Amino acid sequence: MPSDNNHDFVILGGGMAGLTFALEASRRGRRVVVLEGEDQVGGLARTLRFGDFRFDIGGHRFHSRWPDITQWVLAALDGDVLEVPRRSRIRLEGRYVDYPLRFPNALAVFNPWQVTRILASYLWATLARLRKRPDVSFEDWIIRRFGRSLYDIYFKPYTEKVWGFSCTDLSADWAAQRIRVPSLSAAVVGSLLRRSPASSTLLSQFLYPPLGIGVLPECIAAKARQTGLASIRLGSRVTRVEPDGASGGWRAVFRGAEGEASVTGARLVSTIPLEALLGMLPLPEKEAGGLAAPLSYRSLACVFLSVDGPRISNDTWTYFPDRHLVFGRTHEPGNWSPRMVPEGKTSLCVEIFCSEGDALWQRADQDVIEPVLVDLDRLRFLPRSRVREAWMLRVSHAYPVYRVGYAEHRSRVRSALSRWPTLHLLGRTGTFRYLNLDAVIREGVDLAGSLCPSP
Ligand SMILES: Cc1cc2nc3c(=O)[nH]c(=O)nc-3n(C[C@H](O)[C@H](O)[C@H](O)COP(=O)(O)OP(=O)(O)OC[C@H]3O[C@@H](n4cnc5c(N)ncnc54)[C@H](O)[C@@H]3O)c2cc1C
Repeated sequence: MPSDNNHDFVILGGGMAGLTFALEASRRGRRVVVLEGEDQVGGLARTLRFGDFRFDIGGHRFHSRWPDITQWVLAALDGDVLEVPRRSRIRLEGRYVDYPLRFPNALAVFNPWQVTRILASYLWATLARLRKRPDVSFEDWIIRRFGRSLYDIYFKPYTEKVWGFSCTDLSADWAAQRIRVPSLSAAVVGSLLRRSPASSTLLSQFLYPPLGIGVLPECIAAKARQTGLASIRLGSRVTRVEPDGASGGWRAVFRGAEGEASVTGARLVSTIPLEALLGMLPLPEKEAGGLAAPLSYRSLACVFLSVDGPRISNDTWTYFPDRHLVFGRTHEPGNWSPRMVPEGKTSLCVEIFCSEGDALWQRADQDVIEPVLVDLDRLRFLPRSRVREAWMLRVSHAYPVYRVGYAEHRSRVRSALSRWPTLHLLGRTGTFRYLNLDAVIREGVDLAGSLCPSP
């Protein structure tokens, strides 16, 4: 078996986490090798090409609260980036309204009876919050802050569609991380004062490379290679990792174009799904299975459509909570950058939430695409006659599932892995955390800084 040895770091996965670490470590003079199973870098943040059409997986906007990370990204892209206004909508009660809901104008979507119930249950929740108790589930968290009515009408349907199980089993952490709270109190005050919010609050900006988010990982990979110290091996699917007891180093075995091969290095940085890593380590099968089982990932089926004629909407994303519709969210790449589509045409990425191996996952492509086209046409969102071609992609590890109790399971995995001090977990998929691009980059930069101090 061919072998490439003595790297400072062997990095499993060439998504944003693995590449950020590779660039930062190689800039600090370390020799690194990245093993990526796909034929393209970027992982979840890659951009796919079908003819002249480009599609992200679900649309990836970049924004960050850390100015140094924004600067890092701008430098990686050599400043070639667009500032794009964000305007998303959700289809509620048969109408499209701003998403997330903005109060008080969002109350106009509901009939007077619903508004009365929303306000009454909000007031009730405010009083009930005086009784302090911990929030365990997503349902607890939302009802205690927004009231049951808004939970039933707005939060529950979309959330259950995304995850595929009841909000009572989804951890409150997910809500705490994702949802901003003060909007409803503003609603009540705003409604009473008959004040409507400035329209500028409906918009915010994000950064986006003109040819898709996948340009970012490609630029990072190119810059890492330019150091002369980073080797990025595509089409290299890791099957086994072996710690060397004597040296504390690692050997990773992978399958590539030329068959099985291996690389060795002093430290191992894993950004691949946790369950896959557990299955590759020399752990008793029962222990590995027991550790991995409670930490599952939600999958995604993306249907990509090329469309004749003008833009379908002005939306960044459009959300569809209705459980009778097969899909949950769409985005139109041309609204993110006109260069994502050929002139005179547009396109649509349609996201369907599913789980690896479930009925939808196993359907033939055409049997997934067909109901999508029927529903889009029925809603008059996109007439079928405008669709030219359709492609599909299945993404197995799109979202770490935060079931109630997930944090304890994750800590158990971390403590089981701490027996190998030279093994480091990194990234969203690798650490089983719901991280956005900027947080993944932040942690990649910081880990390289701590493991590769300047001489
Ligand atoms: C639908 C969707 C929309 C999103 N939108 C946004 C957004 O708008 N803004 C934002 O900031 N973030 C967004 N994100 C999050 C963002 O995609 C992630 O934070 C980021 O891409 C995670 O990078 P990663 O390297 O941690 O993981 P990944 O991208 O999952 O990278 C892991 C890599 O490991 C590889 N791999 C797996 N197994 C093996 C193996 N055995 N051998 C070799 N390689 C292997 C994979 O191919 C992959 O390239 C979105 C995510 C999804 C799913």
